[in-house]
Amino acid sequence: MPIRRALPQRTRRTVGAWCFADHAGPVPVTSETGPEIAPHPHLGLQTVTWIVSGEVLHRDSLGSEQLIRSGELNLMTAGKGIAHAEERPINEFGSFHAIQLWVAQPDATRNGEPAFEHHAELPRVELDQGEATVLVGNFAGLTSPARRDTEHVGIDLDLRGPKVVLPLELAFEYAFIVLNGAIDFEGRILEPGYLAYLGAGRDECALGATPATRAILLGGLPFDESILMWWNFVARDRAEMDEAFEHWSRDDGWFGQVDSRIDRVPVPVPPWRASMRS
Ligand code: MN
Repeated sequence: MPIRRALPQRTRRTVGAWCFADHAGPVPVTSETGPEIAPHPHLGLQTVTWIVSGEVLHRDSLGSEQLIRSGELNLMTAGKGIAHAEERPINEFGSFHAIQLWVAQPDATRNGEPAFEHHAELPRVELDQGEATVLVGNFAGLTSPARRDTEHVGIDLDLRGPKVVLPLELAFEYAFIVLNGAIDFEGRILEPGYLAYLGAGRDECALGATPATRAILLGGLPFDESILMWWNFVARDRAEMDEAFEHWSRDDGWFGQVDSRIDRVPVPVPPWRASMRS
């Protein structure tokens, strides 16, 4: 499956508390290809799964089993530890196109209990030349029902015209990830495969879009906690990473069990441990 990693970038690690963005597909789904991710653990982050086309079956160590379709939101909070798998639903063929985002949890909640939410209905805002869906946070006076541990926002944009104006928060930094089509922002053409970072200090944003453009707008107050990201974990230091590594490699139950037809993913050895051995 073609994956474009929009975040983190070497020069841009976070946008608000958003710390990871993988844009998957579009790709045809067959019995050999499609969305299949074996059981793996997470720590200290929320996963936000948003599907443009196709379906995926979510299973996690809390016992959640949730089919997610286009236009619906899965929000999984890892806290001190969770494991999950994503399976291609049996007999689901067609095209798969999605984005998976992570939000770093703040110190206040990152050692808390894991949780899972599914939202089939989300607030939608009509724009002059398009429509915005509020995945997380507040936008244009509407609020998503999704849990939020920091001041951040995630918006799906379905755009179709040369002059679209989006209301923004002055104190938030923002970035666009184009999923389909193209955006013209202040003379620069943004296409899939890039993270377009806007910075903070704007109360609105005017842009143009080709007729069938889909994009994600991420934003938030700059995240002021220093994070360490490795594999599927967001932590603060190597000692915490080592602990998570040990839990998953020993399969000691810390991350729970996922009832999946796929075998669990083995954890790689962290680079700092590999160098200790040599
Ligand atoms: Mn995952």
